[in-house]
Amino acid sequence: MYRDMKGSTHVLASPEIAVVAMPTDERVWVPQAKDVWFRPLMLNTRQGQWCNLLRVRKSGVLSRHLHPNPVHGFVLKGKWFYREHDWVATEGSYVFEPPGEIHTLTVPDDTPEMITFFNIQGSMIYLDEQNRHTGYEDVFTKIDMCRAHYAECGLGADYVDQFVR
Ligand code: FE
Repeated sequence: MYRDMKGSTHVLASPEIAVVAMPTDERVWVPQAKDVWFRPLMLNTRQGQWCNLLRVRKSGVLSRHLHPNPVHGFVLKGKWFYREHDWVATEGSYVFEPPGEIHTLTVPDDTPEMITFFNIQGSMIYLDEQNRHTGYEDVFTKIDMCRAHYAECGLGADYVDQFVR
């Protein structure tokens, strides 16, 4: 009785999400900083987790941050690296960022644009060079940023609701 007529979906299950990840409408990209945007895909309020695309059109240091929880990344375009590691994540690369890691996201000078899918658990804690906390993000701050941007750009604040579970 907890299955629908097709027997495939539990009545307590959340609705699925299936979207074209790369939007054709530029307004879907939410500005994060100058020349930095994110595109929400799944904003999980039950588990404190979110999936998005990060798009960067500048080079140099983007942020130094700590993840208390795991992050998974997959590079769709361009490349980037963490100053603390000797590898470069290039198009097609998968990256696992373990809980507890502090790193400094950097885009090389020869990369005009990078786009990466990130699945982020919990939060991102931003740090200065002395590892002092300078700010944080979680699924709720991401939702708030989306709502403010979509209201302002004309899509409507509730445009983000389709990505929230
Ligand atoms: Fe990270």
